[in-house]
Amino acid sequence: MKTTTLTQRELRLPAPKAPGDIVAEARDVCVTLGGAAILRNVDLQIRAGRVLALVGPNGAGKSTLLGAISGDLEPTSGTVSIDGASPSAWTWRELAIRRGVLMQRVDVTFPFAVTEVVRMGRSPWAGTPAEDWDDEVVADAMAEADVTKFTDRVFNSLSGGERARAAMARVLAQEAGLLLLDEPTAAMDIKHQELVLHLARGRARRGDAVVVVMHDLALAAAYADEIAVMSRGQIAAVGHPVTVLTPELLTRVYEHPIEVLRHPRTGAVVVLPRRDFSVVPTAPSQRSY
Ligand code: ADP
Ligand code: MG
Repeated sequence: MKTTTLTQRELRLPAPKAPGDIVAEARDVCVTLGGAAILRNVDLQIRAGRVLALVGPNGAGKSTLLGAISGDLEPTSGTVSIDGASPSAWTWRELAIRRGVLMQRVDVTFPFAVTEVVRMGRSPWAGTPAEDWDDEVVADAMAEADVTKFTDRVFNSLSGGERARAAMARVLAQEAGLLLLDEPTAAMDIKHQELVLHLARGRARRGDAVVVVMHDLALAAAYADEIAVMSRGQIAAVGHPVTVLTPELLTRVYEHPIEVLRHPRTGAVVVLPRRDFSVVPTAPSQRSY
């Protein structure tokens, strides 16, 4: 039986948001680590009801930016706000009911079962009326992320993609209005990549704000309302996928020739490295010495 219910004064609930309202914001954020400028003057607005894809080459600063927005990493200068206040202004519980984070690397040291890991997502709601829904929310999140069949498996025994889905279920179960997902699809097969982006869209339709870091630009274009391209610690472009994903910008940012095509039937954006197949490598036997 539950005896404790936190009062409104003890737990400040998130302000209701309309689609398009700013849920989180980075203003002129700089992060210096080990003497190196990792983020330089980053401005980013994250809005309710939208999926924002954060893309860019390895080392561009995507995870660092997510860390700064989530409140896990203090900016060297500039400000971050979540629900109108600095992340440090909220208690851990208040922060956790506002934003859920799916880290790029998910390590669970103790041999927890998958269901226990997902249930950890409910911990910020302990002692609130929402706790009554824990079992249902956990079961729904596991079904959504397609991990129900792993309920009693030890989390660490799952494959990379299966782990990522279980971690996704945990962040879904947290029911925060802002989801910060760092490469959730990196280890996933096509079906589950589509599933995760579909879930992200579903949360946005419910009014949540979703940020997804990812490398597949066509996938980002298909599911995101907005794309922010990071390059060398800065935002190189932000906006609607069609306006942002140009061959010129991508070729410059990725330092590799890139083509942007349209799918002949659907018109969907297709992004490919430009490959010149007329240059056939010489087979070793054909070499003359
Ligand atoms: P991304 O997620 O875009 O691949 P990260 O945000 O993880 O990039 O890292 C951005 C850059 O910051 C990388 O070059 C990385 O090596 C560097 N970096 C991250 N953490 C540290 C640190 N503690 N000290 C020095 N450099 C770091
Ligand atoms: Mg990263």
